[in-house]
Amino acid sequence: MACVSFPYDAPVSQTLFDRASLVTPGGVNSPVRAFRAVGGTPRFMVSGTGPYLTDADGREYVDLVCSWGPMILGHSHPEVIAAVQEAVARGTSFGTPGEGEVALAEEIVARIEPVEQVRLVSSGTEATMSAIRLARGFTGRAKVVKFAGCYHGHVDALLAAAGSGVATFGLPDTPGVTGAQAGDTIVLPYNDLEAVRTAFAAHPGEIACVITEASPGNMGVVPPLDGFNAGLKEICAANGALYISDEVMTGFRTSKAGWFGVDGVRPDLMTFGKVMGGGFPAAAFGGRADVMAHLAPVGPVYQAGTLSGNPVATAAGLAQLRLLDDAAYAKVDAVSAEIRALVSEAFTKEGVAHTVSAASNMFSVFFTDQPVRNYEDAKKQEAFRFTAFFHSMLAQGVYLPPSAFESWFVSTAHDTQAVERIAAALPAAARAASEATA
Ligand code: PLP
Repeated sequence: MACVSFPYDAPVSQTLFDRASLVTPGGVNSPVRAFRAVGGTPRFMVSGTGPYLTDADGREYVDLVCSWGPMILGHSHPEVIAAVQEAVARGTSFGTPGEGEVALAEEIVARIEPVEQVRLVSSGTEATMSAIRLARGFTGRAKVVKFAGCYHGHVDALLAAAGSGVATFGLPDTPGVTGAQAGDTIVLPYNDLEAVRTAFAAHPGEIACVITEASPGNMGVVPPLDGFNAGLKEICAANGALYISDEVMTGFRTSKAGWFGVDGVRPDLMTFGKVMGGGFPAAAFGGRADVMAHLAPVGPVYQAGTLSGNPVATAAGLAQLRLLDDAAYAKVDAVSAEIRALVSEAFTKEGVAHTVSAASNMFSVFFTDQPVRNYEDAKKQEAFRFTAFFHSMLAQGVYLPPSAFESWFVSTAHDTQAVERIAAALPAAARAASEATA
């Protein structure tokens, strides 16, 4: 790790972290939150309003994480809060079907043309795990192709060369995942269609599906090269395999119809989460009706969930999606472009080699001026510079993802005042990045 000093300016967070570490491994319930890639005390947040978070020490931050994507309308949007309050007053879970889940499913099907039927679940991990099981059940084949640096949640079979927290920690493998569980997973370099063709040639009739992030955001933002997703679809179709587009991160964020709305490549199955839950645990997988018909109780592939389609979560998700019209996306895209330009300008002024990589309104910074097309390229960046940059921004009240391998997220609530605060913090942070040593 780079040599960075951490001003001890979060005493209440530190006390909470100490308490948490006694009762929870690493003090957190999801590894990247622990700040291990950047060091220092994770900030314990107590409230969020619009583009701001307030921590337990009473400090306010402009939030560029947005709960890792979901809060596309900013925090505590009044209409989402009202929908949640209305739903919660009627009860929190019934274990029966309810109208809210029908309405949310209808909204998803109406927005995303390849989704003819959808099943609601509670996390992105559940969505990808279920989609893989369904693809295997539908095709009667075992093998799954995934790409290095793509993260699809902590599904056993997909924790091979994954991004996100796994990228952050550089774990080559995860103990607890057996050879049998990962043995049918073929990991290929991202953006390399030739590697995909070679894998299909080596395993004729054995590959059930190719799963890919629609546009990866878990090794930093590394968009698909022109024709890559279309090529995957074509190769899958030619070989009787399913093309699964993981839109947990990009879905309802990169456009009204997610990344499908950007590149128009029609997947057989898709997975969603984050934005569609409005900050609550709601996720989904869906796609071709003939494939979805293999799912229980209609078909033989079992899949279930006590809290699936939870009435409070579906109310939050539905309220959020209904507010996400063309004007909302135009706003998020515009503020993303504005912040990207400011970031690049600050690094350029300090002579820091960098690439601001964007996919629609998702973006991240790579500390290299070389092209980043896959995970190997991403790992070649000078990540130590991010540590210095991150801590300077944090000290100045801007909350970035605590890893150089994560996407930054903005919302409709990031207004001029929030952008000005970011702009004011950037010069010193870019200087810190330029002065950092490995
Ligand atoms: N798929 C992608 C592309 C993701 O980015 C994530 C989480 O970041 C997941 C799946 C897993 O979702 P969850 O964390 O809700 O299980």
